[in-house]
Amino acid sequence: MLEILRRIVQEVSAAPDLQSALDVTVAHIRRHMSADICSVYLLDKASNHYILMSTEGIDASYVGVLRFASGEGLVGLVGEREKLLNLDDAANHPHYQAIVGQHDKTYNGFVGVPIIHHRHPMGVLVVRHKDSRRFNDQEEAFLVTIAAQLAGAIAHAEWGGDIDLLLTRQNVTDPSFDGLPGSPGVGVGTVMIAYPSADLDAVPQRKAKDIEKEICVFKKAVDKTKADLHAISEQLAGQVSTEDQALFHALSLMLEGNGIVGRTIEHIRTGCWASGGLKLTIEERVKFFSNVEDAYLRERASDIRDLGQRILMHIQSGDRQAPPYPKNTILVGKEISATMLADVPRDRLVALVSVQGSALSHVAILAKAMGVPAVVGIENLPIARLDWCEMIVDGYRGRIYVSPSPVIKQEYQRLVKEEEELYAGLEALRDLPAETTDGYRLPLFANTGLVADVMSSKNSGAEGVGLYRTEFPFMIRDRFPGEEEQRRIYKDVLDAFAPKKVVLRTLDIGGDKSLPYFPIEEDNPFLGWRGIRVTLDHPEIFLVQLRAMLKASAGLDNLHILFPMISCESELDEALILFNRAYEEVLSEGVDIKKPQLGVMIEVPSMLYIIDNIAPKVDFFSIGSNDLTQYLLAVDRNNTQVVALYDGLQPAVLRALIHIVVRAHAHEKTVSICGEIAGDPVAVIALLGMGVDCLSMSAASLLRVKWVLRSFSYQESQRVLAEILELTSANEIRTHLEALLVQKGLGGLVRAGKE
Ligand code: PEP
Ligand code: MG
Repeated sequence: MLEILRRIVQEVSAAPDLQSALDVTVAHIRRHMSADICSVYLLDKASNHYILMSTEGIDASYVGVLRFASGEGLVGLVGEREKLLNLDDAANHPHYQAIVGQHDKTYNGFVGVPIIHHRHPMGVLVVRHKDSRRFNDQEEAFLVTIAAQLAGAIAHAEWGGDIDLLLTRQNVTDPSFDGLPGSPGVGVGTVMIAYPSADLDAVPQRKAKDIEKEICVFKKAVDKTKADLHAISEQLAGQVSTEDQALFHALSLMLEGNGIVGRTIEHIRTGCWASGGLKLTIEERVKFFSNVEDAYLRERASDIRDLGQRILMHIQSGDRQAPPYPKNTILVGKEISATMLADVPRDRLVALVSVQGSALSHVAILAKAMGVPAVVGIENLPIARLDWCEMIVDGYRGRIYVSPSPVIKQEYQRLVKEEEELYAGLEALRDLPAETTDGYRLPLFANTGLVADVMSSKNSGAEGVGLYRTEFPFMIRDRFPGEEEQRRIYKDVLDAFAPKKVVLRTLDIGGDKSLPYFPIEEDNPFLGWRGIRVTLDHPEIFLVQLRAMLKASAGLDNLHILFPMISCESELDEALILFNRAYEEVLSEGVDIKKPQLGVMIEVPSMLYIIDNIAPKVDFFSIGSNDLTQYLLAVDRNNTQVVALYDGLQPAVLRALIHIVVRAHAHEKTVSICGEIAGDPVAVIALLGMGVDCLSMSAASLLRVKWVLRSFSYQESQRVLAEILELTSANEIRTHLEALLVQKGLGGLVRAGKE
């Protein structure tokens, strides 16, 4: 039995798609158990029907046609009860239904096993015999094991949209694919596939006939690519921040000096033709970036690949031609790079879908900054089949609909219109104060970094920058930026907001953020060398950064410095010693700077117990709820297996936040929240009720949060906080808070549409 199980598992994992996996499984089971029929039914969630998807023993024409509602027939009964059913006299069971087309045959032996993944029913595996024979324990155990294996394969396929494709083939529902919400909003339009203009992967390795000529071809292609990048950067001016534009500059810089260009010429000199030399170089660099387990770094790999494709395109001498983008373009691609996005005229782009990526990836952050709805992380999406299809993108739910029925389309078009009205309404809030109906002020700040748009942060009505993640500018370079380089970066943002306050956080690498030129390899990086631990161990890096921040603030006086990942008092003491050293040095160089306010992030639970000792040494606290949640709940913030447990509204997290606010206020220190929860319209009332002093969030969330704030009184928020503290789970709390938003007419903040 073990052998046959092993074979099935192997063949299922090697199967090219779900249909083949199911077919292989039923064939093996039927043969192994000498059964008359073996079938798999999959649950179509939209109709709550179990539909025959693969069978040995029933006529193939019934695949996709034969179906049982949940609770109907023996199959539906197994699905509904989520319990194995083993009968030797099935024909006399009250739920028995003769199999369509096989009325003449009676099947008495029946075993049905539910297929369940992470508590969710996915289908039913059925084996039948004509004889009245009961399946023994071993056979039951065999089928249960296979059903558990199939559950994983089906869940994976469902996530990738395979199931919907199977079901659509049978015209059952509007095909929809679930991914991750990348940027909120809804778009209805026509798909334009974004793909690299030249395919480096397909380049064969050929010998150069004339090495000097190949070098010349390559250099010309590099020059044309630089010109392209410059043109795109110009086109983006005014749409995105200077930092975002700097990405194109950074790509251009990669084409200077001995990096990509020098290495490719080396390859050509060994006898490669230009395309082959380029391919080798790009592969080396991409491999380097992709090997690091880091969402941001993988984005760098895609930038380099994109750059390589562009050069190749010019080598192949096809001049770049913009495709005719439809009026309502939905850009869909395996990996959408910043340059592909920039190619589409902004007034034609209504949404984007990226097969790869997460809410943290470059494309999602850029989409948010540009206000474009996005769904990311839809693996296995059959993009090649989608070109010029109609599509709906629901960035709230992380769902897309392909070739939607007129009913769905009409409904979403209505929602798009409502969204437009909603946004127009929100714009009116820009210059209004962030205060409750009873006049309680809760200042709203913006989170920025490399791609988060400084300009859109300013335009969003932010009262300053509550968190500038300095690691972003470090990530797009191929070495640590020097003091002067950093000074200029920090000065840009301090200038842009002066006299409003700007909180610059010192380098916070490690965990899921490391630098390509400074790899950190650890078994458990979130519990490893992260944040302040790295910079304290590298005072030469830390001091340069602190000096650059201080110098950038000369004459502006709006700098605040924040230390990340502090977990004990001695770390803070050491950081303060280094800060004082940097400050003294800068003063002694004749730069006149007022001492900035200094704060620590509270994102490690140990801080809750030593906050009384820490408070006298700092000016302010900022709660990093993203990390605090993951450490308090022991739930990896990037692990999709446990994503359901990761929720900042868990009662334990809420109580921790309250504790921090109370203790900080006891020492007359302010508390800000700069994790994602601060920008979650649903959580705002609770945070307000706690008495936090300010919230910092992505620019795209700011007006939504302000709307919530201006719809409730401070008193109400305190009552709501007391109510939710009586509840026992994050789900209950969320439902309660969402209902309050809907009651106030703010439902448009939690789902598509206006209400
Ligand atoms: C946090 O942990 O909440 C935070 C703001 O920092 P980051 O997301 O950069 O780790
Ligand atoms: Mg953090």
